[in-house]
Amino acid sequence: MGLLDFLMSLFGGGGTIECPNCGTPGARKTDDEVVHCKNPRCPYFDASLGRAGTLRQAGTTVPTRGDFRPRNPVSIRYVNFAGQSREFSAERDSLVRKKNHIVAEVAPTGRKIALSRDRIQNLSEVEGQMPQRVAPGQDWPTPRERQILGYHKKNGTTSPRYQLLRAKYPNW
Ligand SMILES: [Zn+2]
Repeated sequence: MGLLDFLMSLFGGGGTIECPNCGTPGARKTDDEVVHCKNPRCPYFDASLGRAGTLRQAGTTVPTRGDFRPRNPVSIRYVNFAGQSREFSAERDSLVRKKNHIVAEVAPTGRKIALSRDRIQNLSEVEGQMPQRVAPGQDWPTPRERQILGYHKKNGTTSPRYQLLRAKYPNW
């Protein structure tokens, strides 16, 4: 850590870390626990992170801030590439498994991030709280059925077809 980084960490700028999401070095964590990453493809990407890796003006032009608070929070304890641990507060209903990752909307931005399952310290706890959208052994609904389920759920409407599907997939 250079002198500047050291001073930054003393005065609330946060030290340079590897991004907990994508592992890119040179990310910063501000004292409100928000990660700012240099990788444009990362959910924590922050365009205001200059070439020198310093936040131009923390707290004013940072798009990764937010007041998202999960309604049904699930704590995810995560260890990043550098072995640093971090705790995410994720929205339970947003938890989805994608291959070997768990995608979740996390505080404070509400943006979706992908977390490697291998790095989640409380994986069984997290997966135990994931919405069980179909019963064990039950077939996944067809794309058409998923469309109907999603449409009426989103709009708060209903139809005879939806009622039948709802009965078949009560947790969808
Ligand atoms: Zn990143």
